[in-house]
Amino acid sequence: KASVMDGVNFEDEVPSESLDKSMEKSAFEKLQEDRKTLPIYAYRDELLQAVDNHQVLVIVGETGSGKTTQIPQYLHEAGYTKRGKIGCTQPRRVAAMSVAARVSQEMGVKLGHEVGYSIRFEDCTSEKTLLKYMTDGMLLREFLGEPDLAGYSVVMVDEAHERTLSTDILFGLVKASASFAMEMGRTTIWAREGQIRGGKLDIARFRPDLKLLISSATLDAEKFSDYFDSAPIFKIPGRRFPVEVHYTKAPEADYLDAAIVTALQIHVTQQPGDGDILIFFTGQEEIETAEEILKHRTRGLGTKIPELIICPIYANLPTELQAKIFEPTPEGARKVVLATNIAETSLTIDGIKYVIDPGFCKMKSYNPRTGMESLLVTPISKASANQRAGRSGRTGPGKCFRLYTAYNYYSDLDDNTVPEIQRTNLANVVLTLKSLGIHDLLNFDFMDPPPAEALLKALELLFALGALNKLGELTKVGRRMAEFPLDPMLSKMIVASEKYECSDEIISIAAMLSVGSSIFYRPKDKQVHADTARMNFHTGNVGDHIALLKIYSSWKETNYSTQWCYENYIQVRSMKRSRDIRDQLEGLLERVEIELMSNSNDLEPIKKAITAGFFPHSARMQKNGSYRTVKHPQTVYIHPTSGLAQVLPRWVIYHELVLTTKEYMRQVTELKPEWLVEIAPHYYQMKDVEDPGSKKMPRGAGRASQD
Ligand code: ADP
Ligand code: MG
Repeated sequence: KASVMDGVNFEDEVPSESLDKSMEKSAFEKLQEDRKTLPIYAYRDELLQAVDNHQVLVIVGETGSGKTTQIPQYLHEAGYTKRGKIGCTQPRRVAAMSVAARVSQEMGVKLGHEVGYSIRFEDCTSEKTLLKYMTDGMLLREFLGEPDLAGYSVVMVDEAHERTLSTDILFGLVKASASFAMEMGRTTIWAREGQIRGGKLDIARFRPDLKLLISSATLDAEKFSDYFDSAPIFKIPGRRFPVEVHYTKAPEADYLDAAIVTALQIHVTQQPGDGDILIFFTGQEEIETAEEILKHRTRGLGTKIPELIICPIYANLPTELQAKIFEPTPEGARKVVLATNIAETSLTIDGIKYVIDPGFCKMKSYNPRTGMESLLVTPISKASANQRAGRSGRTGPGKCFRLYTAYNYYSDLDDNTVPEIQRTNLANVVLTLKSLGIHDLLNFDFMDPPPAEALLKALELLFALGALNKLGELTKVGRRMAEFPLDPMLSKMIVASEKYECSDEIISIAAMLSVGSSIFYRPKDKQVHADTARMNFHTGNVGDHIALLKIYSSWKETNYSTQWCYENYIQVRSMKRSRDIRDQLEGLLERVEIELMSNSNDLEPIKKAITAGFFPHSARMQKNGSYRTVKHPQTVYIHPTSGLAQVLPRWVIYHELVLTTKEYMRQVTELKPEWLVEIAPHYYQMKDVEDPGSKKMPRGAGRASQD
């Protein structure tokens, strides 16, 4: 099913189509020549032969050798698409979009037609689509609707070394079906008879014709091969030039500044034509800061130095700017790419000669005891550091400047990054597996099993939300929740909106929450105006969730006006995205047969629906203005951007915690404590919400009975 987002961003923004025909043709020919220079090209036939001979194949090749862009095309050229689509998964949204755009150019077709991509809330594919690039999370969702992946002839799980949660779960699921198919292959006659006689065999999972490719940039291929019953490994020999690695003499106190200074030093002392610079940062904010400082400092140097073209790349970068990093550097200038981890292996930018590696990335961490998840800036692993360094030696000898000491590298960095499955909240995954009919999670064949504690915590939460019954079976609520591509608490909030007759408002809130923290902007010279505009939506201290709803409704009333967004310092792009998300949520409501009902005159039912999803996230104010979470007590604060930051209600419910200088609650709404007992009586008892002063109880009394 095509979505509202079909091709929206790319059609107007990739101009190649509108170019003069003859020029287009020669550019097309040039692209074909480029394809033949990639390391993988020499192994094309051998690779196709191997795919033909084996059902499961592990493919290893240096980043940039052509795995992602070429293999699906080779398979298409060899006729695999006659039997079904070729799906190629990527851990990152930007990679899926960017690679699909590239491959559509190489094939000379319009993005979204023969070549498309699918990421959460954005489906740029059509009936014609043969090569489909997608996030691993999207393929996992497709599994829910089509557990035999009937529409596919080949599934390529790319960037497997990243070991994202979705990739690991896909592995488990695909392995279950693949080994089943292999076993059945040996007893085909029996299988056919069985099928004819009793119809008992689950023929849906019987797909010996489905090819599974697992591709990766690292050499840890044996582990993948072992997991898939000794699947053969196909190695693409890479070309890699020597890379000179430099360490700092002492640890750097401010790596952002050190990175900028290093980049400018390279730029000023080296010939511009000799290569571009790539710097790894941890996220968008850091990249934006670095961009500003770089602009400021190069402006200070005036015309004395060659032009420095600054190219940021991170997940939320607008699509039309994403293409900029791939544009060839003009003569006499130098490019400096400011990237997140995305440039480590997912995207290859040609022409990089210098890599600057501060040694950090943002990583999710999860505490299964408290159930708290946070995104932390963490030192990278040795494997990551080596991948990063390798980016500089692709087209010639390179240099990598590590902004940490050699001692740090050898003694402080872990060898490999811990797979996401071992450091994340598993509620979503458990709900997905349960709805696929996989009940025995402790014995599910994970490549690296998650901590049992985290699994239990997930089961506990799903039980509290009413998605599972006491036996751990999926309930009707749980089945409905699983239809939404959202975290279980958000899905529960939506499902609960039926009872409170406010589904219309709740999906707007859910859509706005899903867009994240990038709704407002705050220009340096107009901060006061921007803050005033923002606070307008908080009149009456309605709380952040209702403020988000007001923003959405006001925008809708202006008929989605761009001007209105400018006037209110709101990002048009975020609003458009939330409208798209909302449209899709509306479609999903229909699918789970929840009527669209509006109740905007009364805020209480809306707040109760929010509470029905987020009751585990309640907190009570302390005397000093900090808050204490009710379950698993922890000290937290209201985020300064919240409309309630100055109000400090006694009881609040929050959307998420973010750890910066302190542990902050982001998106906060006031709560009446009795709602907790009313809405989640299995989770809260009166003693949890009573004033500690009103009834003196010895500390710890009653605690034991509660767990
Ligand atoms: P691998 O998957 O083995 O790392 P890729 O197939 O991603 O390799 O890359 C092959 C080549 O395609 C590289 O030279 C890379 O620069 C180029 N390429 C990939 N994506 C794009 C893009 N969006 N725009 C321009 N070139 C690209
Ligand atoms: Mg790749």
